[in-house]
Amino acid sequence: MRVLFCVSEAVPLAKTGGLADVGGALPAALTALGTDVRVVLPRYRGIDSTGWREVGAVDVSLGAKRLPVTVLDGQMPESGVPAWLIDQPQLFDRAGLYGEGGQDYPDNLLRFTCLCRGMLAWLERQPWQPEIIHCHDWQTALVPAIIGAGQVRRAATLLTIHNLAYQGLFPAEQFEVTGLPPSMYTMAGLEFWGQVNLLKGGLVFADLLNTVSETYAQEIQTAEFGAGLDGVLRDRSRDLFGILNGVDYGVWDPAHDPLIPARYTADDLSGKRACKDRLQDEFGLAADPDIPLIGMVTRLADQKGLDLVAAILETLFAAGAQLIVLGTGDPRYERMFSETARRHPRKSGVRIGFDNALAHRIEAGADLFLMPSRYEPSGLNQLYSLRYGTVPIVRRTGGLADSIRDATPQALRAGTANGFVFADYTPQALLRAAQRALAAFRDAATWRTLQRTGMTADFSWAAAAKKYVGLYERAMARSHDRARAG
Ligand code: ADP
Repeated sequence: MRVLFCVSEAVPLAKTGGLADVGGALPAALTALGTDVRVVLPRYRGIDSTGWREVGAVDVSLGAKRLPVTVLDGQMPESGVPAWLIDQPQLFDRAGLYGEGGQDYPDNLLRFTCLCRGMLAWLERQPWQPEIIHCHDWQTALVPAIIGAGQVRRAATLLTIHNLAYQGLFPAEQFEVTGLPPSMYTMAGLEFWGQVNLLKGGLVFADLLNTVSETYAQEIQTAEFGAGLDGVLRDRSRDLFGILNGVDYGVWDPAHDPLIPARYTADDLSGKRACKDRLQDEFGLAADPDIPLIGMVTRLADQKGLDLVAAILETLFAAGAQLIVLGTGDPRYERMFSETARRHPRKSGVRIGFDNALAHRIEAGADLFLMPSRYEPSGLNQLYSLRYGTVPIVRRTGGLADSIRDATPQALRAGTANGFVFADYTPQALLRAAQRALAAFRDAATWRTLQRTGMTADFSWAAAAKKYVGLYERAMARSHDRARAG
């Protein structure tokens, strides 16, 4: 099966969030299953292009503009999966992927139309033709619409929704940049309350849709989580699936992780104690293995439940906990955590920024990991935490609901509990879960059981990749049916 994996970020080349982890790991897992995968993404400024070679060029029409695009051919650095980089320096040689200083680039419609159209124009000339084009989020959601308009050769399409809140909204005047016929700018197409909505186009025209957990696939069909698109998604309910993201244990495993001070396994946790010592020391916290240390690594966005954290901080410290936060994003939350760390220098530490190595050190050195998200399509950090013996406290939503089993007495007895879960989006509910977690931390036997259950669980990509192959087959069948129906 030939799959073109069309994505706007992929580790280790470019990353702003969980999408990049998927962009790096899923193609590798699909390749391991014998799928013929090729990745395509923009050539951003940060990408080192040694080893890549220029293989051709196409001109892309973007409304009134015509831009030259060069294609580089090479391999994804760690997995060796074949890949194309779409090179258009005016659009992609910039400091950010989607924007700078918290502001999106105003020409993002042009930029990502260029990615989609450049890629499709290049593909028209290739002997290698994908049976499936797998698109991700608004940045590549235009591909199914372009195929739906009959403007390029047909291939089956799957669109994966990683976060429904980011839709690619643009002023109506920019619609002509997409090159789609005006007849597609309607309520049944890309129009959304007077604006262009790229994600909506993908939701309407892709052969199949999926999102990154089964619970989120259900949630987004409701008004509460649907971000205005729940009606569109309910219309496609039969074609919408959920597949939980996997973990790349080649990168996230304390038994082999070169980025942490000491390695450890479920059978010998002495290395984890060393990691905690070093982390407390690095942040100037009181150095004591018996103090429960809570970690957070997160985009500082409303989605992540940070207002709940703000509301219970003082109570947590009074209960004897420490908190370390690594994150960047909304200046409000950056200030909040920085001020907290100043007020409680021995109990709280913060690092504002994006720092992958520190993310690993926090996963390894913390006892507990906090993710009280308002919504969480899949979530990766709770899965990383499990493997690092760092017990997650999560809200029951999306992928958190699908991966974390609350430590009720029954679940503990059955050996299925791996964390602490609360349901209501209130500070009280979070606090109750946190207090249960702190009590469990002080009970060595319970804690050991929780850690072991988490560390020995298997959320590797292999299982998820098999499910994706199943969806590809279904999407191909659907595309054939549509083609036959004319
Ligand atoms: P989202 O995709 O909503 O940001 P996920 O939990 O699915 O949330 O994935 C987040 C990914 O980004 C994880 O790999 C996490 O370690 C990483 N990450 C988020 N913020 C930072 C940061 N400030 N520094 C380093 N890594 C981060």
